[in-house]
Amino acid sequence: MPNLIGLNKFFLYSRKSIDVEDKQVLSIEAQLVELRELAKREGLNIVEELIEKQSAKVPGRPIFNGMIEKIEKGEASGILAWHPDRLARNSVDGGRIIYLIDRGMLSALKFNTFWFEPTPQGKFMLSIAFGQSKYYVDSLSENTKRGLRQKVRRGEYPSKAPIGYINDSRVKSIVINKKESLIIKKVFELYSRGIYTLVDISNFLAQKGILTKGKLNFPKDRVKRILKNPFYYGNFNYNGELFEGRHEPIISKKLFDQVAEVMKKRGRPQVKPKVEKPFLGLLRCGECGMMVTGENQTKYYKGTNREVTYCYYHCTKKNKLKKCFQPYIREDKVESQLSSLLTKVSLRKDWANQMLEKLDKEESDLSQSSNDFVKTKETELTEIKIKLQFVLDSFLDQVIDRESYLTKKEELLSKKKSIEELISGFNKNRFSWLEPMREWINEAKDCDKVATDSDKQAKKALALKIFGSNLYLENKKVRGEAQNQWSALGADPTARTWVRGRGFEPPCR
Ligand SMILES: [Zn+2]
Repeated sequence: MPNLIGLNKFFLYSRKSIDVEDKQVLSIEAQLVELRELAKREGLNIVEELIEKQSAKVPGRPIFNGMIEKIEKGEASGILAWHPDRLARNSVDGGRIIYLIDRGMLSALKFNTFWFEPTPQGKFMLSIAFGQSKYYVDSLSENTKRGLRQKVRRGEYPSKAPIGYINDSRVKSIVINKKESLIIKKVFELYSRGIYTLVDISNFLAQKGILTKGKLNFPKDRVKRILKNPFYYGNFNYNGELFEGRHEPIISKKLFDQVAEVMKKRGRPQVKPKVEKPFLGLLRCGECGMMVTGENQTKYYKGTNREVTYCYYHCTKKNKLKKCFQPYIREDKVESQLSSLLTKVSLRKDWANQMLEKLDKEESDLSQSSNDFVKTKETELTEIKIKLQFVLDSFLDQVIDRESYLTKKEELLSKKKSIEELISGFNKNRFSWLEPMREWINEAKDCDKVATDSDKQAKKALALKIFGSNLYLENKKVRGEAQNQWSALGADPTARTWVRGRGFEPPCR
């Protein structure tokens, strides 16, 4: 007898069923009752009851480890448990038990549901029991995964059905819940109209009795998840992948897309649109001469969820010598007046085109006349290049010495540079005014386009070019004097685009 002290002393070991595969196992209380009865029946001396609340799939259970240590110290030589799988569901812990038996430290193992005796045959059976548990764990999770994958591939959603459907255990598939499906369909239809918010939808659901587990309205995120769930039109997401489902759709793909479109549009204004103040730094107060500033004000429309932010412009009223009484003016009013000012300096298209044609002719005439001069100079350049090659050859052929070569080369290169500059300078000066002129004509031609367009930044930029710092705001009216070449356009009404007598050709000049 190797272990006299611990003889007939048993640890009662039970483990709480927390693993999925333990679902069929009795509750811990029931286990304990049966184990105690067994101990009594067999006359076993239980020195301690050990209850573990941890999975046996991985090694490292503290109570189990403590028990092994105590057995090694000889405090007991037997273990009483429900089944070998209570003791071990992993190969390490199973091995430790068998090793204890091999060393004679563990002489008795009693199980309610398994027979064991410390013989070679018994040890073999036990190792198979541990091994089977392990195999069971492995195969179960593998089977589960494989089963799910197959299910998904078959088009069956392997999880809890979303609202509007139910998991029908009889047919083992997901089927429509008549009442809920109608509500879900309505939800999609409502949202697709683009006038209902996520909160409205949540309220609608609450009204229809669809609430959270805590009997609260669905939060916005949850509503969003419903509206974004492809399940409702027949597909489903699983592990981040979209699959074709076999379940019956509640809504059409078209309706789903409409909802997605609305959500996309909605998504943006929900992050409050920042109304920049495009006309800042453009206007001066006509009364006191101070700069005009802008201010955003949000208007809430009662009972509609609608809110609009407007920008108002007004005098900074920083003039300490003069009290200013100028009112506020809304941005759209400023904009429309700026537009009409811009229209007044715009150049008629036909005139502009004639001017551009004239410019082109001017340019070609200029290049004609300058041609002779440039040609002479270019001939000179070619000559210099030939000479350069010649002196290099002479030097290489040792006709001239290095000193003479370098001197001659320097002289030619310097001459070359002068001529090149002369040519480019000549061209530049002759044509220098052409480009800005062309640019201005095009700009003047496009004035009315900018004026009627919605790009406020473009309006401001053009207004600054035309009026400089001569734009004033007074009594809600914008006025300004066009500057430089623009003043000519502003002064001549026939040059403008807007034609008063529609259908009449303006008089030709
Ligand atoms: Zn003022």
